Amino acid sequence: MKILANDGIAPIGKENLEKAGYKVITETVAQDDLINAINENNYVGLLVRSATTVRENLINACPELKLIGRGGVGMDNIDVEYARNKGLKVINTPAASSQSVAEQVMAHLFGAARSIYDANRQMPISGGSDFKTLKKKYGKGVELRGATIGIIGFGRIGQSLASYALGCGMKVIAYDPYVNKAVVNIPVATQTVSVEISTITLDELLANANFISMHMPMPADGNALIGNDEFAKMKDGVIIANAARGGVIDEAALIANLDSGKVAHAALDVFTNEPTPREDLLKHAKISLTPHTGAATGEAQNRIGEELAEQIINHFETVTA
Ligand code: NAD
Repeated sequence: MKILANDGIAPIGKENLEKAGYKVITETVAQDDLINAINENNYVGLLVRSATTVRENLINACPELKLIGRGGVGMDNIDVEYARNKGLKVINTPAASSQSVAEQVMAHLFGAARSIYDANRQMPISGGSDFKTLKKKYGKGVELRGATIGIIGFGRIGQSLASYALGCGMKVIAYDPYVNKAVVNIPVATQTVSVEISTITLDELLANANFISMHMPMPADGNALIGNDEFAKMKDGVIIANAARGGVIDEAALIANLDSGKVAHAALDVFTNEPTPREDLLKHAKISLTPHTGAATGEAQNRIGEELAEQIINHFETVTA
């Protein structure tokens, strides 16, 4: 059976599939040529990340296609319900990149706490001529150990972040309307320490957190969870991170609260208007930025490849048994 991994697959995933007798093609086919390529080559599986889209027309035009796999979490680029109703198996790998996103948030928080991201911008410009001014400007850091982090959305990534934060000696509080409590495991040398965390209300979290990190889906009504009213309830000098979805924080309110000094720093991996975020966010001196790369580690890609291969092998074993 032939599988087209149109947005690529980690070598370990390809290898595992090949060992099980699959032929895996990793050359990218242009979106417009995809239907022909699938039909002419008798591909039974189509694997995508975020670049390739799998819409109704493709599903209808490719009757031999049996499985669609998304390496990663969001399936916005696939007509999932339509495909399932047509009898196709649709899979993804929701847990494979939680740790990668959590690590990137920790990197952002450490960087924001010491203004490292901004010092890195300014040192090449005036580090040689104005070292002492920069030393003074960036010499007002805060520490993470002992501080309280408020995690909004206590699912896979939220709990993984809690593990890192607890490991760093932070106090962790969390808000999630659908999770009452969770046991967070922290690997320490050869042991695992387990800590149970009960969630609290959003208002309690906002009032008590020195750091806040967003890890929830976009609310169904499309409205930001964090706007001016919520910023007003936060501690002065709070540092806030968003690696969830661009719209969960109102970006205009964020800029206003950074400018007023209410929020000390923000860290953003996601933006309302991807791939063209607002210029005033990109240029803001108090915002640490990454281009939606939270999940983008080699380790996550390997886990994604392995998980996809395992699910594909299991699926076709079951249906052909
Ligand atoms: P998850 O489903 O495991 O956890 C999300 C949690 O949010 C759930 O426990 C849910 O109950 C909770 N939630 C739902 N509505 C909420 C609300 N209004 N307020 C607070 N909590 C709420 O998902 P996950 O894998 O942890 O992913 C979390 C977010 O991270 C998603 O938005 C996802 O799209 C995003 N994400 C970003 C990247 C990246 O590269 N930056 C990568 C993967 C996922």
